[in-house]
Amino acid sequence: MNKLLPTSTAGSLPRPSWLAEPEKLWSPWKLHGDELTEGKQDALRVVLSDQQQAGIDIVSDGEQTRQHFVTTFIEHLAGVDFQKRETVRIRDRYDASVPTVVGAVSRQKPVFVEDAKFLRGLTDRPIKWALPGPMTMIDTLYDAHYKSREKLAWEFARILNDEARELEAAGVDIVQFDEPAFNVFFDEVNDWGIAALERAAEGLRCETAVHICYGYGIKANTDWKKSLGEEWRQYEQVFPKLQTSSIGMVSLECQHSRVPMELIELLRGKKVMVGAIDVATDAVETPEEVADVLRRALRFVDADKLYPCTNCGMAPLSRRIAQGKLAALSAGADIVRRELSA
Ligand SMILES: [Zn+2]
Repeated sequence: MNKLLPTSTAGSLPRPSWLAEPEKLWSPWKLHGDELTEGKQDALRVVLSDQQQAGIDIVSDGEQTRQHFVTTFIEHLAGVDFQKRETVRIRDRYDASVPTVVGAVSRQKPVFVEDAKFLRGLTDRPIKWALPGPMTMIDTLYDAHYKSREKLAWEFARILNDEARELEAAGVDIVQFDEPAFNVFFDEVNDWGIAALERAAEGLRCETAVHICYGYGIKANTDWKKSLGEEWRQYEQVFPKLQTSSIGMVSLECQHSRVPMELIELLRGKKVMVGAIDVATDAVETPEEVADVLRRALRFVDADKLYPCTNCGMAPLSRRIAQGKLAALSAGADIVRRELSA
């Protein structure tokens, strides 16, 4: 990007009420068959138009064609039985009933590539596409086949790489892997998590990113955040190794978070997507609040590597509030852009 401080969102945006029940995570589709296909494409048009109108520079699909950022991808793979469910502890935080890995996992056909081609056909702006990361994928499954988190992660990394290469060929400019699990399993992240992530991104010529957050604004996450104390130093465990990795960009949470801003210094040289929009509140930030976060981040990241972003996805918010937040992000970035060019 030639423009300084190009804006983007971390991932999901609210889905229209005619497609799925609004202001709710993971709500089921209201349409079926051909109507669902058409409805998803219409939703892609709507979120693209919302982003463009708000002045967002790097657009995304807003995850309009998936119900869940991890499960929808896994649903398309062989080797996972969705009828056979076990209760596991997700991210060491909350119990959930999850599908079981019953055999070798494989991707029979592309998952999001048609959606990406469709979006590419609608816009000339750079497109960022999010995929789940290998560690976050294994953390939402019960594994009765490989019986090794690391082994399963490497299998998923290979599968993700196939998908990522096809997304790149479809015209995606940035492939982002979502790894909230990186904020929890520090030993595994450093032992093999980052290596598996690099495997998922292997050979890509487009930009590559990893999104590490403190999660959506759901109760399990806000309760967890309350238990983390005055300073959230989780990033300190993983940034040093990420800094030496082949991943080009890191997306992180900064607005209203207790992450000490100076931890960004540990990523020096990487492009940093600074979360300047809190997704866990309905209060819409003022442009000045956004600008304040960006100015503080600028002490630790070079201006040409700073990408203003949201803390996480906005799917659970109302469309009106999400639109307000997109506009605030854009206006806040504008303020700092003007200051930098003055
Ligand atoms: Zn997130």
